Amino acid sequence: MADLVSHPDEVRVVSRRFGMGATNLDRYLELDGYKAVQKALGMGTDGIVNEVKNSGLRGRGGAGFSTGMKWSFVPKQASKPKYVLCNGDESEPGTCKDRLIFEHDPHAVIEGVVIAGLAVGSHTGYIYVRGEYRYLLDIMQKAIADAYVRGFLGKNIFGSGYDFDVYWHGGAGAYEVGEESALMESLEGKRGIPRIRPPFPAVVGLWGGPTVINNAETLASVPHIILGGAEWYASLGPPKNGGTRLFCLSGHLKRPGVYELPMGYNLRKMIFEVGGGIPDGRALKAVVPGGSSTPVLKSDEIDIAMDFDSVAKSGSMLGSGGVVVLDETTCMVKFALRTMKFYQHESCGWCIPCREGTDWLKKTLIRFHAGGGVNKDIDNMYYLSENMLGRTFCPLGDAAAMPTMAFIKKFRKEFEDHLDGKPCPFEKAGVVESVLA
Ligand code: SF4
Repeated sequence: MADLVSHPDEVRVVSRRFGMGATNLDRYLELDGYKAVQKALGMGTDGIVNEVKNSGLRGRGGAGFSTGMKWSFVPKQASKPKYVLCNGDESEPGTCKDRLIFEHDPHAVIEGVVIAGLAVGSHTGYIYVRGEYRYLLDIMQKAIADAYVRGFLGKNIFGSGYDFDVYWHGGAGAYEVGEESALMESLEGKRGIPRIRPPFPAVVGLWGGPTVINNAETLASVPHIILGGAEWYASLGPPKNGGTRLFCLSGHLKRPGVYELPMGYNLRKMIFEVGGGIPDGRALKAVVPGGSSTPVLKSDEIDIAMDFDSVAKSGSMLGSGGVVVLDETTCMVKFALRTMKFYQHESCGWCIPCREGTDWLKKTLIRFHAGGGVNKDIDNMYYLSENMLGRTFCPLGDAAAMPTMAFIKKFRKEFEDHLDGKPCPFEKAGVVESVLA
């Protein structure tokens, strides 16, 4: 189980019940649990959708699309059943927040799923939990069972006449399944590879029915919005970036951990005040601001507000909230290699630019880091990444290409320092790159 951390600048919304025993249903009820769904039952579908739209809540999984807007795309009338799918397949390196929600506040996820169901007229929800989080499935399974016993799920929930069922599902451990159409394939019992779109899931999704798919943190935020109101939630962050965010601080920090901070919190403060700064007086070199797929920022680029629009303006992405801090001892070529090793391993192989591109980049980086690089490799790796961008069926190709281009563009000198058969300047002579081979 993960240790909890805290900082005075935190604004606890999603994490307000962490460490308070809220996995127990009675305790959850004492802490305002299931009040939001009862309120939502009287709001009507448009009322719920508008409240969430006005709150400024945007997808916490990485894309940052307006949640209320996404819900509004689901047709009111449909010939097939509609579904709500909670994406808890958290797999982006650097990201470890959804697991805390499952661990400490599973009923908030269930409540969010039911409210999303009320908003779109669905009677069935699925909670898909990452395969490597198998230890959390018992918690989620018990929470669902407890909610059924009290009549919060199943037939006639809260005596309202509305039926709603929730099922949990454990993944098998594939990054690719975090992509929403691959998630549906996996849930249907097939190999987890993406679907060609359109049609989009809001119209043709799970088993062909209209489907709303939201990240676990997004759905766990919804009950708080319904209870606290759109205006309050929106006021926590900058315009169009409502609320708070669970930021996962990792890497070279004195106090790594998951902190809930208002959207728009300054990145420099996040690193040096919340995270305690770099250990042993070393200097900051770079920051990956939103999980491994987001372009790296240099140490002089961190005076930015951590919200979707501000980070995009800086040339990167807020992504999934995984802030990875790298100090001056980090070899950026090796970091690029480690990143590519992950994407090459996780590529489903369906489209050529991703399957061949990630493999070629990985092999080039291995040779390059080991001192076998030639000058032409640097431009070739950039050119190859550029040609993967936007040319794949799902965003994994982009996720591999974007950081590589940023590493080369911003740290070209480090790549050049590995040329001419020189050993990696950051590693002691004789260190062999066998672990990365
Ligand atoms: Fe598969 Fe990669 Fe293509 Fe996505 S981009 S469909 S992971 S091969």
